[in-house]
Amino acid sequence: QAKDAGKNCYYIYDVEKDHQRYERFSLGADLRKAIQKDELVLYYQPQIDASTGEVVGVEALVRWQHPTAGLLPPDRFIPLAEELDLIIPLGEWVLREACQQMQAWSKVGVPRMKIAVNLAGQQIAHERLIRSVEEALEESGLRADQLELEVTENFVIRQPEVTVGKLTYLREKGITLAMDDFGTGYSSLSYLKKLPIDKLKIDRSFVKDIGVDRSDESIIKATLAMCHSLGLEVVAEGVETTEQLSFLTDNGCQIIQGYYYSKPLPPSEFMDFICDSGQLLAEPE
Ligand code: C2E
Ligand code: MG
Ligand code: MG
Ligand code: MG
Repeated sequence: QAKDAGKNCYYIYDVEKDHQRYERFSLGADLRKAIQKDELVLYYQPQIDASTGEVVGVEALVRWQHPTAGLLPPDRFIPLAEELDLIIPLGEWVLREACQQMQAWSKVGVPRMKIAVNLAGQQIAHERLIRSVEEALEESGLRADQLELEVTENFVIRQPEVTVGKLTYLREKGITLAMDDFGTGYSSLSYLKKLPIDKLKIDRSFVKDIGVDRSDESIIKATLAMCHSLGLEVVAEGVETTEQLSFLTDNGCQIIQGYYYSKPLPPSEFMDFICDSGQLLAEPE
């Protein structure tokens, strides 16, 4: 930044900035290796049908088991991966791992359900998107109708030409497409009709204010009404309290993802969760 500012400008030395810069630099170098060294791990958060209590889907969420810094959440390294052009290999690893895990679970009695994987904007734009998805399915043997891809509204809306064609292709293969973090971006209702999506995820920022902010409640109600009339499935994210749960179910939102039921879990704990919910099949396929 001092360089950009030019010779005639003052540069106020900022130790904190230097520290952040160093952290990013060293994390960046580590991240490059992390993907090869198997330091990334997926956690799995159940999506529950509130009317039956059954797990009906699961979202894969990446973490980085850093050798010295501990378990890092995605917010600490996804933006970095995007800057350093590592998001493509990272995203491909996530896709493969998630598909393999779901397929492995089916063999040990987990009922067939959808596994949701987050896609970064750059992944959608990238020429390899379709091939990566197809390879992950072929290698694992997972059925296309068990894979759900989560995209965020801003990216899709900024580049409709690039994305709509690809997403439509994937959807025609039987993959489910979900709009993540709905309500936080700029999508208009008319866009929603044009986009090839099956499902919408109501962002936690609205759910959080149920019982606190009437306008957030109105937005949720309107969103649910819209989903029902457009025939879109809907999931509420970040549900933590009984009050939030009853508001959502009272207004017709059945599928719930949030700490109220479970945090994202490492694979073995997700398996325990399925066992405890009584859903494990006696005769796996
Ligand atoms: P997201 O896709 O919207 O995922 C939901 C986030 O909300 C997760 O955070 C989850 O742990 C958190 N969450 C779920 N229920 C609750 C709740 O009841 N209370 C609270 N406070 N939080 C809840 P996480 O795992 O830290 O992931 C953050 C974001 O990182 C994700 O948001 C997603 O945008 C991104 N991300 C995660 N995994 C991947 C990935 O494999 N690839 C890409 N490109 N992005 C990813
Ligand atoms: Mg998501
Ligand atoms: Mg979300
Ligand atoms: Mg998100």
